Amino acid sequence: MSDQQYELTIGWLYPKLMSTYGDRGNVICIERRSQWRGYDVKVLPLDQSATVTDIRSVDVIVGGGAQDRQQEIVMRDLQGAKAEAIREKIENGTPGVFTCGSPQLLGHYYEPAFGQRIEGLGILDLVSVHPGENVRRCIGNLVIEVTATRLARDLEEITGSKPYLIGFENHGGRTKLGKVEALGRVAYGLGNNGEDGTEGAFYQNAIATYSHGPLLPKNPFVADWLIQTALRLKYQQPITLSSLDDPLAMQAREAMFKRLKVNVPTLVQ
Ligand code: GLN
Repeated sequence: MSDQQYELTIGWLYPKLMSTYGDRGNVICIERRSQWRGYDVKVLPLDQSATVTDIRSVDVIVGGGAQDRQQEIVMRDLQGAKAEAIREKIENGTPGVFTCGSPQLLGHYYEPAFGQRIEGLGILDLVSVHPGENVRRCIGNLVIEVTATRLARDLEEITGSKPYLIGFENHGGRTKLGKVEALGRVAYGLGNNGEDGTEGAFYQNAIATYSHGPLLPKNPFVADWLIQTALRLKYQQPITLSSLDDPLAMQAREAMFKRLKVNVPTLVQ
């Protein structure tokens, strides 16, 4: 099958309620990198009006961050058959990138600064607690060394280098992992909780992270991993993506690593 015949549907969780700090950038990045290769791409909002059939139809899922108030609205809506459909997708290996508020919702629970504990879907073995509004939020640039074994291996195969991600975090909640594998180790910034050095989580093909929506534009090879994983699952055949013209993105990464004085293996080819 040639590149042109591939079709990809991106499911975007609650675009109006869950898209803070540029999280839309993750959707645009997957969309554009697919279109540049000639694929037929559709973005399907998975919001209050979405059906179980809609959820089942998507090939890759993007979930962004949210304020505590919006997270509550989403959790009230994301129950029953819809919650089960999301669970099925993730368990069956549908790839996705879930940022900040989204991983908190995919975990067992999130305790906001005010009000009641919000029960999560319990797909990721993690819990998140906001320590209160007087405690400093975790804000700033973030560098992650990917340590999740399979993902690190796949990304290394794509880039030829040990995978480091550059991102930006802004969260009050602190996340503690249970048995789920961490996405990586914090090389700069605070990550899951500012204490144990872990950042994010990786489960099946779901990438959970505190790094917001510039994540994929800043680390385009992760977008390619999501696209490749989605297409392989959908078409059940080995698919290798054609390479795109990425030197500018790679140079921007290098500039950031330099500015933050994080010593990482170079990625510019
Ligand atoms: N409300 C959550 C927190 O403060 C998530 C924030 C976000 O998604 N930016 O931890």
